[in-house]
Amino acid sequence: MLQLKGIPASGGIAMGPAYLWTKEEFVIPKQGIADEQIAVQIQLFEEALIKTRREILDLQKKIANDMGQTEAEIFDAHLLVLEDRTIIEEVISRLKKEKLIAAYIFQDVLKKYVQVFLKIEDEYLKERVSDINDVGRRVLRNLLGKSAKHFEDFQEKMILVSHDLSPSDTASMHKKDIMAFVTNIGGKTSHTAIMAKSMEIPAVVGLELATFKIKTGDILIVDGANGLVFVNPESETLEEYRKEEAALRNITKRFILLKDQPALTLDGKRVVIAANIELPDEIPSIIDHGAEGIGLYRTEFFYMNRADIPSEEEHYMAYKFVTEAVDPYPVIIRSLDLGGDKFLSHLEVPREMSPFLGWRAIRFCLARPDMFKTQLRAVLRASAHGKLKLMYPMISGIEELRQANGLLKECKDELRSSGMPFDESIELGAMIEVPSAAMTADILAKEVDFFSIGTNDLIQYSIAVDRSNEKVAYLYEPAHPGILRLIKSIIDIGHKAKIWVGMCGEMAGDPLFTLILLGLGLDEFSMPSIMIPEIKHIIRSVTLPQAQEIADGALSFSTAKEVGDFVHQKMIELRILQ
Ligand code: PEP
Ligand code: MG
Repeated sequence: MLQLKGIPASGGIAMGPAYLWTKEEFVIPKQGIADEQIAVQIQLFEEALIKTRREILDLQKKIANDMGQTEAEIFDAHLLVLEDRTIIEEVISRLKKEKLIAAYIFQDVLKKYVQVFLKIEDEYLKERVSDINDVGRRVLRNLLGKSAKHFEDFQEKMILVSHDLSPSDTASMHKKDIMAFVTNIGGKTSHTAIMAKSMEIPAVVGLELATFKIKTGDILIVDGANGLVFVNPESETLEEYRKEEAALRNITKRFILLKDQPALTLDGKRVVIAANIELPDEIPSIIDHGAEGIGLYRTEFFYMNRADIPSEEEHYMAYKFVTEAVDPYPVIIRSLDLGGDKFLSHLEVPREMSPFLGWRAIRFCLARPDMFKTQLRAVLRASAHGKLKLMYPMISGIEELRQANGLLKECKDELRSSGMPFDESIELGAMIEVPSAAMTADILAKEVDFFSIGTNDLIQYSIAVDRSNEKVAYLYEPAHPGILRLIKSIIDIGHKAKIWVGMCGEMAGDPLFTLILLGLGLDEFSMPSIMIPEIKHIIRSVTLPQAQEIADGALSFSTAKEVGDFVHQKMIELRILQ
C-alpha cells in the first residue's frame, strides 16, 4: 500500500478504481509504407473518419439530452472540421506521394493548418483551432486503434487522477461518473478544488507525483478532509475508511436536519447563509442544503466549453432561470471573471507571464465593452424577474468601479428607451479581493450597495502566494494576522458607510473561521452548498458576544497557527466540536 499526502481540497471519502487522465498527445513515428500499402492506409484513414463522425453524432445526441440543444451545437463545428474536403484531399494526395503512414500525414497536415489559423487576423478562424485539435485527437485515436479517454465514455464511477484539471475540463464532467479528483498540482482555492466542492465530491490536490505513482485500475481511497490518498490499500485500511465514511454520513445527516433553520445565534443575531454556484444545474443542490439565495454566481463557466461567446438572449435566459428558481431569495451575479486559472479557449486572450496579475476579470471586461455590455444588459433584463444583484470582480480602485458603472448606466438607458423592464434599483456590489480595494474601501463604499470579500484572491494578493501553486500552499493562510486585520477593516468600513458586507471566498465556508467572521460582524456568508448545514449549526451554537470575544482573541495572536489552535479549543469548549 502506498500513502500519498497532498492538499485537502474538498472533504469526504471516496473509494474506487483510479482513472489516469491525460490530454492525449500522440507521438507518431515517420514510418514509410510499401506501394501496396497505400490503398490500405487510405482505407484506414477513411474508416477512422467515419468512426469519428459516428462518435461525434452520438456524443452530440447525449449532450443534447443531458444538457440541452445549445451545448450540443458545439459539436457542429467539430463535424465541419471532420468533413473538410481540403484536409481530407491533402492527406490522401500526400499519402500517395510521400508513402508514409496515414496517422503521421494526418497529424502533420493538421499541425500546419493550426499554424496557419493562428497567424490569421481573424477571430473566427482562431477560434476553430481548439475544434481542429479536438477532432484531430479523436481521428488519430481511431486511426491508431486506441481506446477513448474522455469523461463521457466512463462506464463505471472512477476516481480521476490527473496532472491538473482546467475549469473547462471540470465543467464538462458529469457528477455521476466521477467519485473524486486527485491532482499533481493546485491549491486549496484553485478552481479544481472549488469545482470538486460544487460537485460534492472529495478532492486532494498538490500531490506532485500522483500521476506517476498511480495507474488506471489501481484501487484508491481518497480522504479529502485530510489530503490523503491510499493506493491499493490493505483490507484493514479499507475497513477503517468504510467505518469512517459511515460515521461521516451520520454527521452529515444530523447537520442536514438543520438546513431549513435560519442562521441565528442563541441571542438572536441573524446572518445570511448563501451558496456559490458555477452552473445553473447546481440549483437543486443549493435548495437541498438550505441556501438563502446565491451569494456568488461565477458566470465565467457559462462561457466555457463552447465555440462562441454567449448571446444576450442566452445570458438572459440563464439568469432568469436562476433568479426564478431561488425566488424569493436573492441571486448575486458576478460579472465575467475570466483570467487567472480560468482560460477560455475561444477568446483571444494571450498567455501571460503572471496571469493572476494580468488581463483578468473587470480589466478584461472594460477592454471589451461590447462583450461586457451584452452581459450587463442580460443581468438587468433578468432583474425584472426576481431579486437580482450584480457585483464586479477584481475591482482595484474607484476608477474601475466608475467605468463599469458608466457602462451599466448606458445599458440601463438603452433598455429604458426600448421599453424593456428591469429593476431600477438593482443592488450593486464590489468584490473586495485586491488589497488596494481593501485599503480604499471607504471610497468604494460610497458608490456601491454592498461588498463581497473574495478571500481566495485577497489572500493570494496580500500574502503574495499563488492560490493554485502547491509549492507555496503552506503560506496560504486565511488566519494570517494580516488577513484577519484586513477583513476586520473591510467589514468596519462597510458598516460605517451603512452598507452590508458579505464574503464569498472559500474562507466563508470553512468551519474553523465561522466564529471569527461572525464576531467581526460579517452579514452574509456565501459558500459551496455542501457546507451550509454545518456552518448554520456553528452559528446556532453561540451568542454574538461569545463570537465577538473569539474574534477579539483571534486578532491578538501573531501567527495563523496560534489563531487556529485557539479557535479549535474554543469550539471544543462550546461543544461545537467533540
Ligand atoms: C475569491 O477570489 O474569493 C472569489 C470568490 O472569486 P474566485 O474564487 O472565483 O476568484
Ligand atoms: Mg476572485
